[in-house]
Amino acid sequence: MKRKVKFWVGRLQAHLMRRIAPKTLNIPTDHPVISFTFDDVPDSAFHYGAAILEKYGLHGTFYIAGNLAGSSDTSRKLISEDGIRALADHGHEIGCHTFSHPNVATLSGAKLQEDIDRNRSFLSRILGGRRGGHGAQLNFAYPYNAVSYFAYRRLARNYRTCRAGENRINRGATSPQMLCGMEIGLSDAYSQQLTREIDAVKEQPGWLIFFTHDISETPTPYGCTPATFEKLVQYAVQSGATILTVDAALDRYTSPRSV
Ligand SMILES: [Zn+2]
Repeated sequence: MKRKVKFWVGRLQAHLMRRIAPKTLNIPTDHPVISFTFDDVPDSAFHYGAAILEKYGLHGTFYIAGNLAGSSDTSRKLISEDGIRALADHGHEIGCHTFSHPNVATLSGAKLQEDIDRNRSFLSRILGGRRGGHGAQLNFAYPYNAVSYFAYRRLARNYRTCRAGENRINRGATSPQMLCGMEIGLSDAYSQQLTREIDAVKEQPGWLIFFTHDISETPTPYGCTPATFEKLVQYAVQSGATILTVDAALDRYTSPRSV
């Protein structure tokens, strides 16, 4: 019960932070950009999700929590260290999702920094000289889409961007540490209807960042089937939107020539 309350308090704070955090990133509203991202990274996200993106010549962003790597629970198996390396070798972006997957709103500053440093060391060891290795500044996704003001400030010092949930499209003046994500999950029928969000970003351009977890024939409520994921990817390609990893979208938005 106490954990549930903390979870909702963290979500509420994320909602407030999105409103009050300095909006230093301008997301142009003249051309749609779509990103496909994965949290936790079950191995099915690698086997099906990454493969589907690659089939269309695309790449995704995979937010890794080092302590989950190689573990499994009743509903899923998480990506292995070799899998993380393979993702990077295939050109996908490796992002950070903390090391131990806590609700960051509940951690002291020292504990949060310790966790950030642990995941940075973990990814540096796994990735070595690959992109994202050697302590490179990465992009981050909040576990449970929860944050506090103090966690936000510390994470902002450590990452290029931080992504929450909120199920919104990012447009215009935006805080790079409070990017909104659109969840693919709940049920497969619901996920299939997310083509309407691709229509919405085509109609009124901005940056639509999808996030999901497992891609499986029997998905959890946090993932979807390979057929549904491919339907969304194909629809996104046909929409004419530019499909980029989070890091590549950031490069586009912060480059004086292309904005
Ligand atoms: Zn997570």
